[in-house]
Amino acid sequence: MLSGLFLIIYISFSFVMTYVNWERINTLQIFWIFKEAVLPDLNAYRQNPELLLEEDAPENIVLIVGESFSRSNSSLYGYEKNTNPMLHELEKNGELSVFKDVDSYTTTTIPSFKAMMMGYKNEYADSVEWYECLTLIEVMQKAGYTVHWLSNQSKHGICDNEIGLFADMCDEQAFVGDKIAGMKRTTYDGELLPLIDKSVSKARGKNFYVVHLMGSHSKFDARYPDSYSFFTAEDYEGSHPHLSSDKRQLLSTYDNSIRYNDRIVYDMINRFSGKDAVVIYLSDHGIDVFASDEDYIGHAIKNDPVSMHAARKIPFVIYTSGLCKEKYPQLQRRIENSLDNHIVTDKLMYTIMDIAGVLTVNSVSYRKESILE
Ligand SMILES: [Zn+2]
Repeated sequence: MLSGLFLIIYISFSFVMTYVNWERINTLQIFWIFKEAVLPDLNAYRQNPELLLEEDAPENIVLIVGESFSRSNSSLYGYEKNTNPMLHELEKNGELSVFKDVDSYTTTTIPSFKAMMMGYKNEYADSVEWYECLTLIEVMQKAGYTVHWLSNQSKHGICDNEIGLFADMCDEQAFVGDKIAGMKRTTYDGELLPLIDKSVSKARGKNFYVVHLMGSHSKFDARYPDSYSFFTAEDYEGSHPHLSSDKRQLLSTYDNSIRYNDRIVYDMINRFSGKDAVVIYLSDHGIDVFASDEDYIGHAIKNDPVSMHAARKIPFVIYTSGLCKEKYPQLQRRIENSLDNHIVTDKLMYTIMDIAGVLTVNSVSYRKESILE
């Protein structure tokens, strides 16, 4: 009995020493990898809901989730630095709908994702386990969509474990590079483009893509290639005279990460421009980069309205292809009629269900939860 136990320990130890790349792992990550062993398998909590569907719905729905992108640093929303030239071009051509007043549900990644991808919010914690709630992925699969999870974030790690569980529910999942690199990740979001191409080339029928970007996650200058170093510290002398040169430099790298993402998101949208497609792009939350205090950079200072504004006000846009506009003129009208509404991202799941033509789930209509009028 005892020798059997030692044998198991020996085999486990040998496996870990052989296959784990220790140079990429810190103590916290080891903790989270072991924590993952006790995380639930969301597939075991599928609810097999009964859906009532519209006769027809867009063939491609694409959800691009950015990272740490504060609306106040987007030129789509009046920021003086030209951080979103490509998306602005789409907006000028009437191809992109820009929602004016959108708040992320929280200021951090995991609770934000849960609120977007399932019917769970932090305030339900006393009455329900989060993993028992209905997921958007299951609803979309029941609605006839093949669901793809394409990510440049890690699957395992301190910021990612629970998000990786959603990927395990999908019909396809693909990650760029190392699945445990965490914040040390150096792969660019542009590396998702070939993954999207591969996935789209094989796709049949209706497809729902979730594309998870590294976006503007710190460390900002690791998010874009040198060729995208558009802004420099000098560009901020006039606009941010109170910041030191080092801080202006840091702010310039944050804005460069946004400008790089502008290009990547534009390229992703273009992959679907000739198809019947709706593409939604938003950030999981914003970030306070010297907005509230010249010494503060981080997710947010609670109770500081300026900091919370930077951390929660996010960009939110919807692209509809020409074919989609032609086939679903009422959907386009509803999008355009909703641009001025105040929106919180916990409505995203119901909005995507609405776009996908889900009329009821187990005889209950969630239409009033959609952000579309
Ligand atoms: Zn995040």
